[in-house]
Amino acid sequence: MRDVALNYIHEALRDSKRCLFCYLESKFESRFIDSYLGEHVMDAKTRQKVIESRGFCNYHSYKMFTSANKPCSNDGLGMALTLKSVAEQLLKDVKSHKNLEFAQLKPRILRFKNKRKPLSTLKLSKIVPSAFNCPACHHISEMMQIYMQAFLREISQDEILLKVYEESSGMCIPHYVMVLQIAAESFDEKLAPLMKRLVERQIKSLEKMLTELSTYIEKQDYQFSSEERAKTERTIGESLTKIVGRQGTEQALTNMLQTRGNAHEIEP
Ligand SMILES: [Zn+2]
Ligand SMILES: [Zn+2]
Repeated sequence: MRDVALNYIHEALRDSKRCLFCYLESKFESRFIDSYLGEHVMDAKTRQKVIESRGFCNYHSYKMFTSANKPCSNDGLGMALTLKSVAEQLLKDVKSHKNLEFAQLKPRILRFKNKRKPLSTLKLSKIVPSAFNCPACHHISEMMQIYMQAFLREISQDEILLKVYEESSGMCIPHYVMVLQIAAESFDEKLAPLMKRLVERQIKSLEKMLTELSTYIEKQDYQFSSEERAKTERTIGESLTKIVGRQGTEQALTNMLQTRGNAHEIEP
C-alpha cells in the first residue's frame, strides 16, 4: 500500500499544472464511476446502499450519466438499473407523503395527519441525495484522507519529496484546508514545522496568483498586442482552479467535514 500511495503521489506531483490532490481526486472519481457502472451495480449489497442514499449526489449522478453516454459504453444498463431501484424507493417515499397535511396554526411546519410530531426538514430532505450520503462522495473522501495522511507522513520523512512539493504548483484552497484538518488530528510533533512550511508554500502560491492576475488585467489594455495577451490567457482558469479546486471538490470536503466530529449534529 505504501509504495502504491507513494507512486501516485509522485505521479500527481509530476503533473505540475494543478493541485496534486485535485489530480488524485479526479483519478479516484473516474475509477469509482467505471467500476460502479461496470460491475458493482450488479452487486445486491451495493445496490442496497445506493437505494438507502436514494442514489448519488447531483454532481456524481451527472458524472455517471456523462460516462454512461460515451460512445461504445455499455454503462447505460448500469445507469438504468440504478435509476429504477432508486425510483422504486422514491415511489414508496412519496406515497408516504400522502399522510402529510399542513398544521393550521403554524403554516410553515409540516405535520403528519393525526400525529403531533412535526416532520423535520432533515427527514424530508432524506430523499434528496447529498454529499453526505452519496456513496461516491463517501468513497472519494475516504481515499483522499488515506492519501493526505500518506502525503504528510512521506514529506515529514523525506526532505527531497518535500522540496519536490514546494517546487510543484501546490494545493488548491479546499485541499489545503483538508490537509490542515488531517494534520490537526495527528499527534505527531514532527508535523508542526512541516505545517509551517506548507502554510508558507500556500502564501507564496496566492502571492504568485495575485501577480499573474494583475498582469492579466494590465494586458487587457489596448497597447498590448494579442500575442502578448494570449500569454496570460490561462491565468483565469488556473487561478480559478487554485481557489475553488476541481469541479466536485467541495463534495468530498463536505463529506469529510461532516463525517468527522459534527456528524451527530446534522443527523436527525
Ligand atoms: Zn485541489
Ligand atoms: Zn457524490
